[in-house]
Amino acid sequence: MSHRAGRHFLQIPGPTNVPDRVLRAIDFPTMDHRGPEFGELGKSVIADLKKAFKTAGDVVIYPASGTGAWEAALVNALSPGDAVLMYETGQFAALWHKLATRLGLAPEFLPGDWRSGADPVAIGDRLRADPQHQIKAVCLVHNETSTGVTSRIADVRKAIDAAKHPALLMVDTISSLASIDYRHDEWGVDVTVAGSQKGLMLPPGLSFNAISRKALEASKTAKLPRSYWAWDEMLASGKNGYFPYTPATNLLYGLREALDMLFEEGLDNVFARHARHAEATRRAVRAWGLEVLARNPAEYSGALTAVLVPTGVDADHVRKVILEHFDMSLGTGLGKLAGKVFRIGHLGDFNDLMLMGTLAGVEMGLQIAGVKAKPAGVQAAMDYLFACARGATPVQRAAA
Ligand SMILES: *Cc1c(COP(=O)(O)O)cnc(C)c1O
Repeated sequence: MSHRAGRHFLQIPGPTNVPDRVLRAIDFPTMDHRGPEFGELGKSVIADLKKAFKTAGDVVIYPASGTGAWEAALVNALSPGDAVLMYETGQFAALWHKLATRLGLAPEFLPGDWRSGADPVAIGDRLRADPQHQIKAVCLVHNETSTGVTSRIADVRKAIDAAKHPALLMVDTISSLASIDYRHDEWGVDVTVAGSQKGLMLPPGLSFNAISRKALEASKTAKLPRSYWAWDEMLASGKNGYFPYTPATNLLYGLREALDMLFEEGLDNVFARHARHAEATRRAVRAWGLEVLARNPAEYSGALTAVLVPTGVDADHVRKVILEHFDMSLGTGLGKLAGKVFRIGHLGDFNDLMLMGTLAGVEMGLQIAGVKAKPAGVQAAMDYLFACARGATPVQRAAA
C-alpha cells in the first residue's frame, strides 16, 4: 500500500487513539521490576487506579488483554459447577458466557434483544426464584461494546438487594472505565473487570480486577484452579508495588501518564466530554435518516454509537469504502449484528474536531457507498457542539 499522509482515524471502539504523551512515556528504557524505582511506580499506579474505579478496596493489574481479567474474576471467586447469572446484552456478554462455560461453571443466560441493557427487574425476578441461593454470581457487561448500550448497574444492585440475594456482582467495564461514570464501591460491585486499550488510552496489554472484601473472602474457599490469575499472590506483591512475575513494565509507564492526564482533565469532565460527543453523534445519525441501535435513551453509551444501516445495505461495505477513501477505521458489526451495523468509537483521547472529522468521513462514505442518507449529519452535530462550546444551558442545547 502506498503512503497515506496524515493520521489514520482509528474510530473503532477500542483499541483507541493513544495520545502522544502516553506513547512518549512508554518510550523509556525498561527498568528492573524488582528494583526500588519499580516499587514506587507500582504503588502509585495502583493507588490512582483505585480512584478511577472509585474504590477503597484492592486492585490487581495483569499483563493480559481484557479477556484475561474476565477469567481472573471467575476463577478466583467461584467453584466448579457454580451457577452464574449472566445477561445477553450482546457479543461481549456472549463471549464472557462462553468463557464461563469453558471453565466448568454453569452460566445461565437471561435473554436480551442486543438493543437494550441488562434488565434489573428480570434479574431481581430470577434471583427471587432462587431461594436456595444456588446462583453464586451475577455477571454483567456495563458498556456493551457490540451495541453501544450501557446497563444501569446501580439499578441492578438495588434489584439484587431487594431480592435479598447474596450472589456476587461482577461487572465488565472494559469499554467504560474512565469514559462513563462508574462507582465500584457505591454500587456494591464485587469484582470489576477493566482493560487498558479503551477509555484508559493505552495500547492493548494490561487488564485489571477491582476486588471487594466480600469477593476476597469468597476467593479463600473458591475451588476453581488458578495460578497465573491468583489474587492472593498478586495482592501480596502488590502491597509494595511489585508483581509475582514480570509485569508489562513499559505499559505501566504509559498507565502512569494516562492516569495523570485523566486527573488533570478531571474524571467528571472526561465523562461530560464523552457524553457530548455521543449526543452529537446521535444527532448526526438521525439527521442522516439512520437509526441508533440503542433503544432506550437512559442506556445510550457515551463511548460508542452503533448505527443501523437500511435493509439491503451491507454495513461492512460502508466501512470498506470509508477506509479506502478516507483512511478511517470504524467498528464492524459483531455476532448477529454482522453486516447490519457499523460502530463509531468516540471514546478515549478524542475532541470536538476529531469527532467532526469522523462524522464527515462517515457522511461522505455513506454517499459514496450509495446509502440513502441525507447529507445533514455533520451540520447537526456541529450545531450541537457549537451550542455546547458557547456555554449553552442544557435546555438551549436540546433546542439546538
Ligand atoms: C474489548 C472488550 C472485551 C475484550 O477485551 P480484550 O482486551 O479483547 O480481551 C471484553 N468486554 C468488553 C465490554 C470489551 O469492550
